[in-house]
Amino acid sequence: MAGPRIHHFVSCLDGASRLLSIRLLLLGPFSSSFDIEMPRWVPGSYLIREPLAHVRDISADGASISRKAENAYRLRPNADSEEILISYDLLCPDLTVRTNHLDNTHLHLVPTFTWFMPSKGWNAGSECTVTLSMPDDWSAATQLHTYPIKTPNHVDWKGSNVVSWAPPTIDELYDGVIEADACPNHSRMMSGVMHHLRIWDAGGQVVEDEAVERILDSMDKLVAEFVALFGPLPYEEYWTILFLTGGARGGLEHLRSQTSMVPRKALWPHQDDAWRDLVSLLSHEYLHVWNVKRLRPKEFVEYDLSKESRTDLLWWFEGGTSWLGDIICLKSGVWSEKDWRKDLERKMKRFLAGDGNRHQSLTTSSHEAWIHLYRPHPYSRESTISYYLEGEMVMMCIDAELRKRSKGESGLETLFAMLWKRHGLDSPVLEELGIRHADIRKGLTSMVGGKRLGIMLDSLTKQKIKPNLEAAMKIFGLSFEATEKGKEKQAWLGLRLSQKNGLNVVGLQHDSCVRNILMPDDELISVDGIRLRNSSELRDALAGKAGTEVEIMISRHNSIQQFKVVAAAQQEAKVKLVGKGNKLWKTMLESAQDS
Ligand SMILES: [Zn+2]
Repeated sequence: MAGPRIHHFVSCLDGASRLLSIRLLLLGPFSSSFDIEMPRWVPGSYLIREPLAHVRDISADGASISRKAENAYRLRPNADSEEILISYDLLCPDLTVRTNHLDNTHLHLVPTFTWFMPSKGWNAGSECTVTLSMPDDWSAATQLHTYPIKTPNHVDWKGSNVVSWAPPTIDELYDGVIEADACPNHSRMMSGVMHHLRIWDAGGQVVEDEAVERILDSMDKLVAEFVALFGPLPYEEYWTILFLTGGARGGLEHLRSQTSMVPRKALWPHQDDAWRDLVSLLSHEYLHVWNVKRLRPKEFVEYDLSKESRTDLLWWFEGGTSWLGDIICLKSGVWSEKDWRKDLERKMKRFLAGDGNRHQSLTTSSHEAWIHLYRPHPYSRESTISYYLEGEMVMMCIDAELRKRSKGESGLETLFAMLWKRHGLDSPVLEELGIRHADIRKGLTSMVGGKRLGIMLDSLTKQKIKPNLEAAMKIFGLSFEATEKGKEKQAWLGLRLSQKNGLNVVGLQHDSCVRNILMPDDELISVDGIRLRNSSELRDALAGKAGTEVEIMISRHNSIQQFKVVAAAQQEAKVKLVGKGNKLWKTMLESAQDS
């Protein structure tokens, strides 16, 4: 039979119920029993999820259906069945960039946690169609290509606003996120290619036109800078789906689209930190077009979405993307140099507060993402590192050394382009697809000035070493100093606190003076008899008490307890970058569009 034999249908007409109505039509012939399976993780987010937890009332016409595994059902076709129709409802309550979310204002459909695909026993190829029925005033924003011919129409289907797509491969099916809502499309040609922006506000707030223009202008500059680095864009159309929230944040990359989510205040006037973060996020997810979606670790050239898949290279794919994404912000002019320095200050505070480098290397941090970064606990930062943050810091160190040794001729950004051209999904040589550590090393040592940097790369990524940012910035004629220089030393407990129901301990720094006294979930009640309700009251209560004994009252499991401890002095964290920078530093600021 010509054409796809697997057709996915979804209706979001009843958004208020939070339930999607789903049909899956399989066209025979069928020779025997076979399984259908839903993925358990989504590329870019290393956590096993249980998508069937949200599946309700699954049934099949033309076959019997029974549960086979955590994420799979077994179908036994009836004798002479020519087609099988599977029906189920799917609850979509979670608003994140990697989960299904449905209400009466929008649908964010994440295919990995929506669609079953045949896994064992029936080979119908990977061609399929996806059809969405949505309210009349909605339209869809998706990277999927529309399906020009009618899908089988004998499925009992409602609605007059129906659109179909035809993902050519399973990879494309599962990568094809769909946002459907009544929000307008903002489209603009950027570097000769159409880019669409769809903004949905989770609370229904109106997005001002100036804010939209500001985002489009920034994206335009970013795209031009990426083109200058990587060459012509590897797609014909790109979609940015942006969610605005009261506080939640996240981003997830796809082949020709991204879903990003930021607090809506990022679009308000004078919210410099939030705006800077939004632009950085857009740039980061956009860079994944090359570094993750097309250039992948060898292990991810073909994803196995049924179980954990590990790579040692997330420091390159996430840390590297964070580093270069922000460098592109700087070079393209969407960030000023002041923005870059300000953001480095924020990163340095986190970097200096952790002690994980003594316990974990970047390759281990990458390999163990599934059990560490995605499952943090109150003591995580004292024994683990983040391949995002520490990965980015390592990139900065290697880049500085490369610029020094090449006298400004080479920068690490060129290595990203080189690896993508050589090992990206569009590479003509099959064996070259995907990279290992050795490929990064080979690329680096082949660069002008990079000949002897292989050992530095190996030790900073494979050994338990804290990268030396001071030395790296010194190469650029820059140095760090304390932000609050000369201030009287404040007493310091080294706690991370939450203020939801009282002032509660959520984490303790490794060098905290109460590391072995307080516990996560303890509620701080008072210091030296002064009642505490929030962090600023704690700061006031500790003022001038560095080096003296203080009495802390807490509630632990509703039992009042008291401790005496000598309060430590707040250390002056050197996080503020100072100095004008030398000639090498100027090469960092230059746009590649000028050369
Ligand atoms: Zn990322």
